[in-house]
Amino acid sequence: MHIKKATYLISSPSFEKCPASDKAEYAFIGRSNVGKSSLINMLCNNDKLAKTSNSPGKTQMINHFEIASVLKAGEFNETKWYLVDLPGYGFAKISQSSRRRWEQMIENYLRKRENLTNVFVLIDSRHTPQKLDLDFIQKLALWQIPFTLVFTKSDKEKQSVVSKNIKLFLEKLRTTQQFLPQHFITSSVKKTGRTKILDLINEMNID
Ligand code: GDP
Repeated sequence: MHIKKATYLISSPSFEKCPASDKAEYAFIGRSNVGKSSLINMLCNNDKLAKTSNSPGKTQMINHFEIASVLKAGEFNETKWYLVDLPGYGFAKISQSSRRRWEQMIENYLRKRENLTNVFVLIDSRHTPQKLDLDFIQKLALWQIPFTLVFTKSDKEKQSVVSKNIKLFLEKLRTTQQFLPQHFITSSVKKTGRTKILDLINEMNID
């Protein structure tokens, strides 16, 4: 897939305020600092894209980007889809009420958004399995929302450590899930994993 254009569209405070659900939509979520903005920028080939939505006051919003893509550079048959940057979880300093608001907003969005095609759950590949990530994934599975795992920052650790952490994570998941989700290993610095993720989005756009 070749991204022709990626445009920041709108930041919405709730599911109800999101733009019309008229295109396939792919959401990205993970703990704060997991590398979500960097991954979105890397996928879209635009270093400044996700920073727009990270400006103060917009961090608890549902951020929509409109993407125009073609199968290969030079082709004309454009597909438009939404990429959504969801507010991250696991802020240490967040108040109880803000956390509840976040949970409600995310649950509403994830369960009600009709055009939501896949959720990419980002996990920092440098760490052993974290309860917060596992709990979030458990909810996605419970709600029957399609999702894929993305192990980020793979350039920051030895490959053996990354592989071990991923193996441990999948083993943990296997204790509660019948089926293991697909997973990707990425580095936004080295641009690893970009083609595979875009290929999956392309496949899902066609289905
Ligand atoms: P977000 O809070 O999840 O949006 O995380 P950011 O994308 O802002 O990344 C948090 C920090 O990790 C920043 O300092 C990034 O430069 C760094 N970072 C993100 N992805 C990678 C990566 O793939 N490799 C390396 N080496 N650093 C990364």
